[in-house]
Parts: sequence; C-alpha cells; structure tokens
Amino acid sequence: MASISEVAEQFTELYGHAPDGVWSAPGRVNLIGEYTDVNEGFVMPLALPHTVVAAVSRRTDGVLRLHSADIDAPVVELRIDELAPPSDGGWASYPAGVVWALRAAGHPVGGADLHLASTVPTGAGLSSSAALEVVTALALNELFELGLSRPELAVLSQRAENAFVGVPCGVMDQMASACCTEGHALHLDCRDLSIRQVPFDLAAHGLRLLVVDTRVKHELGDGAYAERRAGCEEGARALGVSHLRDVPYAELDDALVRLTDDRVRRYVRHIVTDDERVERIIGLLDAGDVRGIGPALTEGHASLRDDFRISCPELDLAVETANTAGAYGARMTGGGFGGSALLLVEAVEAETVTKSVEAAFAAAGYTAPRVFPAVASAGARREA
Ligand code: ADP
Ligand code: MG
Repeated sequence: MASISEVAEQFTELYGHAPDGVWSAPGRVNLIGEYTDVNEGFVMPLALPHTVVAAVSRRTDGVLRLHSADIDAPVVELRIDELAPPSDGGWASYPAGVVWALRAAGHPVGGADLHLASTVPTGAGLSSSAALEVVTALALNELFELGLSRPELAVLSQRAENAFVGVPCGVMDQMASACCTEGHALHLDCRDLSIRQVPFDLAAHGLRLLVVDTRVKHELGDGAYAERRAGCEEGARALGVSHLRDVPYAELDDALVRLTDDRVRRYVRHIVTDDERVERIIGLLDAGDVRGIGPALTEGHASLRDDFRISCPELDLAVETANTAGAYGARMTGGGFGGSALLLVEAVEAETVTKSVEAAFAAAGYTAPRVFPAVASAGARREA
C-alpha cells in the first residue's frame, strides 16, 4: 500500500506539479440492517481502516484529469462541461460523476487533477465505490470552498453513482464513508439522515469482528438488487405505506397476513425484522452487552438467506463454520451473492475461527477467502 507521501509523490511525477492536498475515505462493513437503507429504514455500518487515498489539485480551466495507481490505464482527461450521464460505467465515471453531481447541484467546481491509490478491496461488498466518490467529494469541497456538510457530500456522491455511473445504490455506503468515526458504529436513519455514533470498541471488550471476503461474486447478483428493491416497493404499495420503514415491527404479523404474494411477504419480513434487529443491537450495545449481539447477527443472516434469498453457499459456509467454531454470531454483509461475511469472535479465538473457515473453504473446493479484522475506523479526512 502506498503511503500518503508516496501518493503525493506519484501525483507530482504524473502531473508535473505538487498536489494541493491529500485526502482519504474508507470502505465500510455493515454490522446490521441490510437493504433497509433503500426502504428508508435503519442501518449500522462502521468504517474500515482500508481507504482510498487521493492527491488532488485544483484547476480552473474546466479540465478534469483522473488517474488510479490500481488500474493499468493512462490518465483520463475530460472536460467538465461535457460531463453528462449516462457514462460508460468505467472507473473514471465514479470521480467524474461526483464532479457532475456537484456542478448539477449548482456548486462551482472548475476542474481538478486527481491521482489515487486504494487499499479497499474492490467488488468485495466493502464499498470501494463509495470511498472513491466520497474522497473526491471531500477534496473538491475543500479546494473550491463549497461549504457542504458531510451528509450533503454523501448524498451528492450517491447521486453520482445512481444517475451518472448508473448503479441504483442506497445512501448507506456514502454516509458511512463520510460520517463514521473511530471506535464507533454509525446508527443511521436513512429517512432523515440523522446519525448517532454508537461506541463500538471491540478490543476493549476482548472481542474481534472478522471480515471474511469470499472473493466470489456470482452473476445472479446483477439483476437481483433491482428485483429486491422493486419487490420491497411492491410490498409498501400493497400495505399502503410510502416505504417499508413505516411498517412497525409490532404490526408485522398483521401486515404479512394482508400480503398474498409469498415473495413480497418474505421481502417485507426481512426488512421489518432487520430494522428491529438494528434497534435491538443498539439497545444491547448501549447496555454494554456486546457479546449479546451475536444471536441478532446470525438471525440477520438467516433472514437474508431464507427470506430475502441473497446469500450463497460460500457465505452460508463462512457463517455456519464460524458459529460452530465458537463465534458469538455471524452474518453476510452487503448486497449478497458473494462479497463478505462478518464474524463476531472472542479476540483470543480469532485465529482458531479463521483457520476453521479457511479449512472449510478448502474442503469445499472454494477459492481461499481473505480474512481480516474490522476495526471501527475514522471516516473521510484530509491527510496532508
Ligand atoms: P464495491 O463498492 O463493493 O467495492 P462496486 O462494484 O460498487 O464494488 O465498485 C467497484 C468499482 O469502483 C470498480 O470496478 C472501479 O470501477 C471502482 N474502483 C474502486 N476502487 C478503485 C481504485 N482503487 N481505482 C480505480 N477504480 C476503483
Ligand atoms: Mg459499491
């Protein structure tokens, strides 16, 4: 991984002048609340120590130059007044989309030179795309003195991904990258974007949260995201609410009886119970019972596997193996059909559980997973 100063040096070598500054934005894992963001419900992500680091300088001639140390391709040069969706969806469309979204919202961005290097695994459900957008937004916000708040930068980053890149994601990932703080999980209400930093210092409790990146991404996932979102909207319509967030957990059984389509019923049950699990986990964390959140994590996995049906054999194997090996709880995290799982384990047992999961993957003939600890880290920031 390139250090902050190395990224700045690479920038200077590439563009022939020093950057105005260096910024970073993290990837994230979501502790609980899956697909609830697009139902205006609750989520609870934490930022990873893995970041996209971007050296950036301001330009005023309408030119945008983009380069990634992680992509074997020359500098992409664009004119900002020619940016318009739809984009080609390539990597440069993420930062270019942020410039487009800022300008479309009336913010005076005059151009930029940008060079980045990242330690966020891409396509692993850890939100490298949001980190890339948020680091761009934060840098431009400072360089052009736009005065936008972090939630505003997150929403514009989401707009870039939705409308410019063409990916219909919710707002959780960008909010996590922009607003998380070290040692906390972020309790986010995806309706009004109100946030609360919930203490989540696992080391102080002798615990560890492990990420198992399965390194698989099944084709099935491509259309499934939109299908699940549409199914949730269908459920909300059938129940006469604007979003499933408005179905109280206490009224879930009554609501399910009113739904005739089994598929929609399952989707509704997942969303409403996952919103409840967010609240339950917050209550346990506030009470200092960190080990006690384990069963809610595993329940969340069962709900995604059986009701929402977005798990896959690799994720199920990671969760089952971890629980058998002594984890307090485990679940898949992110959009599903591959990507990563989360395991809550006693710190002293982290190695044993990791070895069990690796052995189970090897025995099943799966790609070797990448296992690493998720330490609740800082959100986007200026580094130099
Ligand atoms: P995730 O956000 O889960 O990592 P996505 O498919 O949403 O997966 O985003 C991954 C995409 O983001 C990559 O295909 C690439 O276009 C872009 N991206 C992420 N990291 C980098 C990087 N370091 N350099 C260039 N592009 C990147
Ligand atoms: Mg993404």
